[in-house]
Amino acid sequence: MDTISLENRTRSAALFEEAKNYFPGGVNSPVRAFKSVYGPPLFIKEGQGCRITDEDDHTYIDFCCSWGPLILGHNNAKVRDLVTETVAKGTSFGTPTRLGNELGKLIVNNNRYIDKIRFVSSGTEAVMSALRLARGITGKSKVIKFEGCYHGHVDSLLVKAGSGLATFGESTSAGIPRAFAEETIVLPLDDRKLLEETLQKYSDDIACIIVEPVPANNGLLLQDPSFLECLRLKCYKYGVLLIFDEVISGFRVGFEGAAGYYGIQPDIITYGKIIGGGMPVGAYGGSHEVMSHISPDGPVYQAGTLSANPVAMAAGYAALKQLLEPGFYEGLEAKTKRLADRLQAFALRHDLPMHVQQIASIFWLAFTRDRVVRADQIDAASMEHFKNLHRELLRRGVYLGPSGYEVGFVSAAHTEQDLDEAASIMEKCLHMVF
Ligand code: PLP
Repeated sequence: MDTISLENRTRSAALFEEAKNYFPGGVNSPVRAFKSVYGPPLFIKEGQGCRITDEDDHTYIDFCCSWGPLILGHNNAKVRDLVTETVAKGTSFGTPTRLGNELGKLIVNNNRYIDKIRFVSSGTEAVMSALRLARGITGKSKVIKFEGCYHGHVDSLLVKAGSGLATFGESTSAGIPRAFAEETIVLPLDDRKLLEETLQKYSDDIACIIVEPVPANNGLLLQDPSFLECLRLKCYKYGVLLIFDEVISGFRVGFEGAAGYYGIQPDIITYGKIIGGGMPVGAYGGSHEVMSHISPDGPVYQAGTLSANPVAMAAGYAALKQLLEPGFYEGLEAKTKRLADRLQAFALRHDLPMHVQQIASIFWLAFTRDRVVRADQIDAASMEHFKNLHRELLRRGVYLGPSGYEVGFVSAAHTEQDLDEAASIMEKCLHMVF
């Protein structure tokens, strides 16, 4: 196959130059700028199934899947049909709609971990609202988060926070007032002694612990399930609420997300990405009691002009309904594991320093010999390997998110044949990189 060199991505390059006139860094979300990999970002004009096509008419097998939402792949027919039918009747009314009820019912009736849900328009908004809710219920203000976990660009949580910042060599954003950052206590993942000490000392001030139960924003830092159980028990013990940020893991590791996967009941769960079927939707949910504190029932105010707009609800509904089909998650997990196992076997055979970390349909290539479970185990050399691999993969038609800290997503639209094709290309490129 002809390779796609940087030189023949001319339309993307020209569009990127133009975009720099209008947007900071030429983009509307930082990691899209390809700062830590080679070349200009791809300007994508179309996606079908597991493939995307750029403005230069090159097609790639896509493992970014819009950073996770597209668990059914691009341009899923049922999602497209319901969105098209809905949009023909108007895009937003600022009123409740039947489609909102349908999506709410589908989620609540099939998820044992939430009784009520509130739709918002992004994962960040969901997390921001969940924090306010936890603070409103407990009357306390501090939050414990974990190093390497990302929870959106919420002020108080943009401290030691994962890929976007790590990609640019920082761990905390400028523009966060010290008073806000001081409300956040950052702990390493799975340091149970430090956790206990911190709770003993500050539990009178701590409203909640927030965690990505499947930390997937600084590589894929899979935790021992007993750490999550420990968080649950300690939160009960110290009167602190437990928030699972399931913006990535929700509807990804199973319909009930990580709560269902590990069988742990958090107090509040946040969602984003998959829940909107590719449209801007986030949500947070919890028990009847917890959610009764939200306005207009309770004193914790939260609102949104475009929240639960019918087009987004249609996309979410049409997508989530398909996830409930028997065997959906099992099939997806099996395909992804097969890909991960093949790449891991290849690394072993050729003695490459690469560890393939995987859960359900999420995978990450760690350029280390051992499992990585904490953010500080990732070094600069591994990012350099990723950068070279990314360039070679792009040349041969495989698209990974443009940062070594980003995980890959497999969708239902990736067939075994597509995955075999991608694996062969990956193996070839790994040979070139090492
Ligand atoms: N929480 C987690 C775990 C995420 O991965 C993200 C985004 O990647 C967010 C929150 C923020 O979501 P959004 O980008 O929709 O604001």
